[in-house]
Amino acid sequence: MAMEKTVIGLGLLGLGTVGTGVVQVLRDNAREIDRKVGAPIAIKKALVHNAAKERPGLEDLELVTDIDAIVNDPEIDIVVELMGGIAPAKEYMLRAMAAGKSVVTANKDVVAQHGLEMFGAAVKNGVDFLFEASVGGGIPIITTFKQCLTANRFTEVMGIVNGTTNYMLTKMTNESMDYDVALKEAQAEGYAEADPTADVGGLDAARKAAILASLAFNTHITLEDVQVEGITNVSAVDIEYARKLDYVVKLLAIARRVEGRGIDVRVHPTFLTKDHPLASVNGVFNAIFVRGNAIGDAMFYGRGAGGRPTASAVIADVVEAARGILTDSRSRINPEFFEPKQICPIEETESRYYLRLRMDDRPGVLGSVATAFGWAGVSLKSVLQRHVDDGAEVVIVTHTTKHSSIVAASQSVAALPGNARVCSVIRVDKSLENG
Ligand code: NAP
Repeated sequence: MAMEKTVIGLGLLGLGTVGTGVVQVLRDNAREIDRKVGAPIAIKKALVHNAAKERPGLEDLELVTDIDAIVNDPEIDIVVELMGGIAPAKEYMLRAMAAGKSVVTANKDVVAQHGLEMFGAAVKNGVDFLFEASVGGGIPIITTFKQCLTANRFTEVMGIVNGTTNYMLTKMTNESMDYDVALKEAQAEGYAEADPTADVGGLDAARKAAILASLAFNTHITLEDVQVEGITNVSAVDIEYARKLDYVVKLLAIARRVEGRGIDVRVHPTFLTKDHPLASVNGVFNAIFVRGNAIGDAMFYGRGAGGRPTASAVIADVVEAARGILTDSRSRINPEFFEPKQICPIEETESRYYLRLRMDDRPGVLGSVATAFGWAGVSLKSVLQRHVDDGAEVVIVTHTTKHSSIVAASQSVAALPGNARVCSVIRVDKSLENG
């Protein structure tokens, strides 16, 4: 039976970039949002770390510094967690659900690492746990997988899900900027944290990959299942070669169903053909490309971060949770319905590869390198060679090959006479190509 609620009370945990965006958008669009819900949404309290901080435009909000003030408030129906990090955010959300409140969060760390526990707590307590803003900021991708495309059997999900690295790679590509300069510019623009490790090292994208893969393949993929490589080794030279070969370099989160071998989930820089829909996603924009057996190919594009774009996704969840409260229905993910998972081992994964090597510029060296690749079972699609200061630089693009074969070839090359060494290895996407 529907509960007789005339107002839906919100408790915000956190009033930073996203929290402030949520307050602003709720205020700006109050008439439309309240009408869609069928009852006014009222922010009852906001938990902050430092209640003395100046918060222009938010002076009328009741600030608290003790989570009990929110968990024990019977007028709060939905708790919106926008603090970030695992502790104490996870504990606060569990306490809110145990108190019968639905939870909305933008916290990819908690969803990626403790999703099962959170979904289980929602089911146990008969509340909603919604996390649209945890991947892709304002892009509606979680509900897309949970609901809109749920009829599909997916073979592939590929996403540009980290704005910082996409901004840097765009600058390196379009303005021939070096990695260090691009990073400094991203920090100056406020797109990269003072400590950018999680972004450039691929961890932020890996968390999002785990969330997307879990939903797309209806299984429980954790951060540990994701093979992660960031952009720290991508040099201006590789970007230049990509351009010459008609590719662009993107940091992609990829989840694929490999028939008979399980789910292959990884984050790494990738050479993409220029006609791939993701190739033209530039700057801080994010996009997720999916391939399902009913929808075919589809792409979702938009702002992956920022206060108001992220608030758009958070408030969508608030509206969903509010409707659930008013109609006494919930749209929960029941982790008991997840399929057991099989992860495709990295050695078994297949791709085309770009390799940049340095070696002595004398007869026979390149030949022995090509032979080493042949012995490792790697077939070469193209080879470029040019003279550089201290020898020869050789760029190889392979046909589709197993990861284990590339590792074996690189090891054999290092043992050859002629000082041959592999400087870069980057996967080449083949989803729109043959062979
Ligand atoms: P933020 O600007 O750093 O704000 C964090 C807020 O949480 C602040 O108001 C802070 O209080 C409060 N807080 C932190 N620790 C607390 C504690 N222990 N007790 C009470 N309050 C605490 O963070 P944000 O950028 O808004 O991000 C929030 C969440 O959204 C994160 O999970 C993030 O990953 C996610 N997200 C962010 C974006 C984005 O564009 N920023 C996009 C997508 C998802 P004070 O104000 O007193 O310091």
